[in-house]
Amino acid sequence: MDIDYLEPTTVSEASELLNLHEGSKVVAGGTAVVLMMQQGLLLPEVLVSLRSIDGLSNVTASDDLITIGSAVTLQEIATSSLLLERTPSLARACELVGNVRVRNAATLGGNLAEGDYASDPPTVLAGLDATVVAGSERGERRIAARDLVTGFYETALERDEIITRIEVRSLEPNERAVYLKYVSRSSEDRPCVGVAARAKFSDEIVDDLSIVVGAVASSPQRFDDVEDQAFGAPLEADVIESLAGAYSRGISPLEDARGSAWYRKRMIRVFVRRALTGLVSNGAAGS
Ligand SMILES: Cc1cc2nc3c(=O)[nH]c(=O)nc-3n(C[C@H](O)[C@H](O)[C@H](O)COP(=O)(O)OP(=O)(O)OC[C@H]3O[C@@H](n4cnc5c(N)ncnc54)[C@H](O)[C@@H]3O)c2cc1C
Repeated sequence: MDIDYLEPTTVSEASELLNLHEGSKVVAGGTAVVLMMQQGLLLPEVLVSLRSIDGLSNVTASDDLITIGSAVTLQEIATSSLLLERTPSLARACELVGNVRVRNAATLGGNLAEGDYASDPPTVLAGLDATVVAGSERGERRIAARDLVTGFYETALERDEIITRIEVRSLEPNERAVYLKYVSRSSEDRPCVGVAARAKFSDEIVDDLSIVVGAVASSPQRFDDVEDQAFGAPLEADVIESLAGAYSRGISPLEDARGSAWYRKRMIRVFVRRALTGLVSNGAAGS
């Protein structure tokens, strides 16, 4: 079957093409789309490439807001000195994706739009309270990153919407963030469990905290009521243990080739504990 390959030059034009052609599909880096086409899982009649649209490949910063174009590759994020300094857990999560060949082609927008539960960046962005901006013929819409993935390979995006950029704020001087990825099969594998943790401290007292666990359910798991329990006190060992236990109990993990539900429950506890301990000890982006 012949596939039409179209290269619109604006977001609005791309959106119009998606509406015009029922069997159309957006393609950015192609690491997921091309693989699915090769496996016969996806048979698009029209591919709408984002390659010729200006402005999707830049990283910019003003004051404490960082804007990452959707076509910025995961390798560019992993190696950007700006991002390593201002949002190190995101850079680290991107560095841990697959291998360098994948990261060189894979884009942040494509990673988010794919809606794959076993991904790294969506977990971190949900914990950083990032915003995903989507464009279409109708204009722009802002979606909280934590609300983007709605189910297995399902997102809050409409069929004709294109992610144009991701907005994330810089960590404040009294704020630390880590991302821990646990792989159970090979170093290049997708996560069995991914944990993003971020905390803001005043004299070691927790002012703000987020904990997000990814790759264990259809979408990243974050429990506001559990996070709230840590506010106003130091992040001591018993508090960390209680938070790790609450996440482990609260999540009903899925089973796949990377681990059973039983195993994942235990790994959630271990990695939430390690992530929170990492926040207290050095606050570096974890491995
Ligand atoms: C060998 C391998 C290992 C991997 N390991 C990991 C891993 O460890 N962790 C991890 O997180 N991921 C992993 N991935 C997944 C990889 O990160 C994604 O495939 C990639 O980020 C998708 O980006 P892309 O630009 O290639 O998207 P594409 O393949 O071009 O598109 C992916 C999906 O998003 C849609 N899309 C793309 N861009 C946009 C946009 N701007 N707006 C709206 N829709 C859009 C497409 O229509 C398609 O549905 C791995 C992939 C491979 C092949």
